[in-house]
Amino acid sequence: MSDLSRIRNIGIIAHIDAGKTTVTERILYYTGKEHRIGEVHEGAAKMDWMAEEQERGITITAAATTLFWRDHQINLIDTPGHVDFTAEVERSLRVLDGAVVVFDGVHGVEAQSETVWRQADRYHVPRICFVNKLDRAGASFDRSVLSIQRRLGAQTLVCQMPVGAEREFQGVVDLLEEKALLWSGEGLGESFDIVDIPADLAEEAELHRLELVGAVADFDDAVAEAYLGDEPVDADTLRAGIRSAVLSGKAVAVLCGTALRNKGVQPLLDAVVDYLPSPAEVPAPRGEDPETGDPIERPCDPDAPFAALVFKLFGDRHGDLVYMRAYSGTLKENGHVYNPRAKRGERVQQIYRMHASQRERVKEVRPGDIVAAVGLKFASTGDTLCLKAEPVLLEPARFPETVLSMAIEPKSSADRERLEEVLGRMTRDDPTFDWREDPETGQTIISGMGELHLEVLKNRMLRDFQVDANVGSPRVSYRQTVAAKGRAKGSFEKEIAGKPQYAAVQLALEPLDNLEDFEITWDTGGSLAIPQGFHAAVEAGIADAARSGAGQSYPVIGVKATVVGGVARADESTELAFEVAAGRAFEETVDAAGRLALEPLMRVDIRTPNEYMGEVLGDLNRRRATILGTDAEAGDVTHIVATVPLAEMFGYVGMLRSLSQGRAAHGMEPTGYQALPPAMAAKVLF
Ligand code: GDP
Ligand code: MG
Repeated sequence: MSDLSRIRNIGIIAHIDAGKTTVTERILYYTGKEHRIGEVHEGAAKMDWMAEEQERGITITAAATTLFWRDHQINLIDTPGHVDFTAEVERSLRVLDGAVVVFDGVHGVEAQSETVWRQADRYHVPRICFVNKLDRAGASFDRSVLSIQRRLGAQTLVCQMPVGAEREFQGVVDLLEEKALLWSGEGLGESFDIVDIPADLAEEAELHRLELVGAVADFDDAVAEAYLGDEPVDADTLRAGIRSAVLSGKAVAVLCGTALRNKGVQPLLDAVVDYLPSPAEVPAPRGEDPETGDPIERPCDPDAPFAALVFKLFGDRHGDLVYMRAYSGTLKENGHVYNPRAKRGERVQQIYRMHASQRERVKEVRPGDIVAAVGLKFASTGDTLCLKAEPVLLEPARFPETVLSMAIEPKSSADRERLEEVLGRMTRDDPTFDWREDPETGQTIISGMGELHLEVLKNRMLRDFQVDANVGSPRVSYRQTVAAKGRAKGSFEKEIAGKPQYAAVQLALEPLDNLEDFEITWDTGGSLAIPQGFHAAVEAGIADAARSGAGQSYPVIGVKATVVGGVARADESTELAFEVAAGRAFEETVDAAGRLALEPLMRVDIRTPNEYMGEVLGDLNRRRATILGTDAEAGDVTHIVATVPLAEMFGYVGMLRSLSQGRAAHGMEPTGYQALPPAMAAKVLF
């Protein structure tokens, strides 16, 4: 199985409830991974194996699993669809080579489908679409395809046609082979009949095939030649053409079926093998030299120096499983790796190929593989693992800032200790989780991406790690920045254990255009007022002060801090003194520059029947929304795009439901920060 062309690293992405988990369970069953099918609604799905997930019937953590189909190794990652777990989707997309996008055949493209589609665009991931749930009343393959074209702007290559509809859905016409695949009866769908296209569909199938050939001709010379010459195009030529079109990222193959009724999943597996890229067919990952920042490319070659990206940690009480995607070189069991971020070398003990909650030990990991390792203590999500002699930093996935927080108060000092350990572990695991001590109340504040995310984090702490604590209700995670430029200094002078300690630091601050950035630079006019040996301590003091809010409750972002001077005294200056002095200088300078309170802003996509437009827009205006656009869509539906402060979005699901008698739907994602209106800033912040 070492032949790279026989590996597929894929993810399944979708709007929540489109059927990702149900599709995955079928895939596990048909590829022989599982001997029975676990159903989501029975709380028994194999990929949703955390207790939390089985209770809620949704997927929270991306679980990786390896399976085999037609002599190909498919590494599959099941990702959650809920906006709160966007980090899981981002980090999966970063390490995947291709994706299956699942749609609900009744709704077609939904709000969250657009979000994941945009994310997949960002990571240039080639895609296959699977229109699921064609057994449901009101489902329509044609309408779903139309919504994929219109709303996602995708060039579709429709490879199938449904046979029967809704309760009568029996299978699909394979437009390439010009055969019908029919699943009879209500069995588990392992076997199906390949028959001639039913007479009543023959003409339509011929038209659809012509359309497919015409569309593929734009991407593939062999198909174009036949098409223009009016010659028949055989299935293999067409397949190769679809493959190159999908790999180019400019078109998507579209298939259909119903996972719950066990129809149409095997052809989807075929399509994964036929149309999605192997690790050798995707561009080499971008990386840089950790010292010089020079770009480095690493070939997908087992003999090249080793490089892998850590995309997920799963910590339980027994230690961490470190999930990695290998890009180049070979790493053996017990081998050494170097982590350029942590500047540390360490040894992997065992390497496992993961099968949902099961694991299989393997001797080595090669390019293109996705495995989990045990024994790494310093790796965090987003880290590169490489060789010390040939260091490289691979570009990690990007994660948004947290938007909601919650206070946690441990009940005993033993609980407090355990909490600290757990928080450290959870930060390494989840890049959209953050925590800090509130300087005013002494409480521990945890932050995340949404109410559900915080709820899950809370349960991990309280249940999985058994910390006993009081927990507050979720609040918006505000930020601060500076209103203008400013300059000030801070110093530290104190006798500690009979020894005087001293340091002083002078800072200049200025606001940055990009609020998500934070920079520290040095400009002490060539003087060595602060010896080089203390620079790291000064920078740590500034970064800590910014994170903890510089004397107020919320982290400072969007600022460039320049160290412009300082004073060191021989014998009296220490790292500690400089760290504290820098923190004080930062706080003074933020006050001098003037504080500006920021609130997180969401991009909200709403689809509502036209008759409720007025109410929905009126309600949005009361929520301080900025309407970016309204678009009329088929079926008397309007698509509204707006930005709304997160603080105004609590309880929105229920409100939208009651305004529209349950017929409007929305999706949202974080889209940065905006200044709070002064009257509100005074209330929530200072
Ligand atoms: P996910 O959130 O995308 O993982 O969606 P799930 O796989 O959890 O499915 C959501 C719900 O839709 C569950 O109740 C499934 O049983 C149901 N479902 C999934 N696929 C189908 C299908 O093909 N037909 C019908 N009627 N229901 C389905
Ligand atoms: Mg799921």
